Amino acid sequence: QTLGVPAESAPGETRVAATPETVRRLIALGYEVVVETGAGTASGFTDDAYTAAGARLGDAWTSDVVLKVNAPAGHEIERLADGATLVGLLAPAFNPDLVDALAARPVTALSMDAVPRISRAQSLDVLSSMANIAGYRAVIEAAHVFGRFFAGQVTAAGKVPPAKVLVAGAGVAGLAAIGAAGSLGAIVRATDPRPEVAEQVRSLGGEFLAVEVAQEASTDGYARATSEDYDRRAAQIYSEQAADVDVIITTALIPGRPAPRLITAEDVAAMRPGSVIVDMAAAQGGNVAGTVAGKAVVTGNGVTIIGYTDLPGRLPAQASQLYGTNVVNLMKLLTPGKDGQLVLDLDDVVQRAMTVVHDGAKTWPPPPVQVS
Ligand code: NAD
Repeated sequence: QTLGVPAESAPGETRVAATPETVRRLIALGYEVVVETGAGTASGFTDDAYTAAGARLGDAWTSDVVLKVNAPAGHEIERLADGATLVGLLAPAFNPDLVDALAARPVTALSMDAVPRISRAQSLDVLSSMANIAGYRAVIEAAHVFGRFFAGQVTAAGKVPPAKVLVAGAGVAGLAAIGAAGSLGAIVRATDPRPEVAEQVRSLGGEFLAVEVAQEASTDGYARATSEDYDRRAAQIYSEQAADVDVIITTALIPGRPAPRLITAEDVAAMRPGSVIVDMAAAQGGNVAGTVAGKAVVTGNGVTIIGYTDLPGRLPAQASQLYGTNVVNLMKLLTPGKDGQLVLDLDDVVQRAMTVVHDGAKTWPPPPVQVS
């Protein structure tokens, strides 16, 4: 069968679903790979690099399997061949119209963001690989805007205190941010409603600010909405910290819901001029009052609030490489014979969870998955 890699058409998208290196691995699974001319340009991969890896340049949309980063546009859905399989970030919970449009075609669609959080599926987990990049990049964006060093220094020109960074939400993105801010030399503190992350925060050199209330444990690896009691106590911590820290990076998300609001307008107003906030939940409505998705805004008291929604794409080669590797791992799972023939097994919980449309029938939402 053929695997097609189209150029991404979403404005500002820099990533591509396969790199020359991952193309080699897809070919080793028995597939023929067709890459659209220029598909890798924005990530720094030339057409020549793809052909040297064994791909052919041509119309990627007519392939048996189409590998995408973003959801396809309406006219792109029309270009899919009958019986084709589409792989991409479809976000079915937020895009019911997309799911219906796909189900109107005799195609199968697999969503890379619907991977269940079980250890066996970790190698396909695009949300984790992209969150890791985004957490790192959030710190770089903050450091770029912040007018001082992150590390403390004693120099002939005077003593410089270290910057203080608060990371709200210590999941994959938060832990990457804690690591990056710590390696730049900042003092790092973190919060999260899941007490089990305290040890991970400490192992990265951060201080865990515990909110001491009972929280129900998660059954599927994803966070649940927090209790009112939790939110009240956490709010106190955020208002104390806002007055003390130089940088706040927020990463709090609850799957399928708008992002929880953590930092209020009063908290932002209490920050010193020159402070920086990176709201990594901007695309889901934001954790911070005053965030504008996709932009950096400066408040009246001189605090920059960064709401960029393309943080992984700001490291395009790295993001494409990790996304492409997640796709290779999916294709390995779907190609048990290593013979270039895709076999979808809907009895497998991982494949079932990702299958949004199967042969023109809507199969989303899937039955719930329990953690293994
Ligand atoms: P996420 O992006 O859904 O959420 C980010 C973080 O926000 C989470 O740590 C969550 O606890 C936190 N959060 C939610 N509400 C909050 C609030 N009110 N205040 C502060 N923080 C809040 O989560 P994620 O980073 O993708 O993953 C979370 C965890 O899931 C990881 O740390 C990891 O332990 C686990 N995980 C497991 C697998 C797997 O087994 N395959 C894959 C990925 C992640």
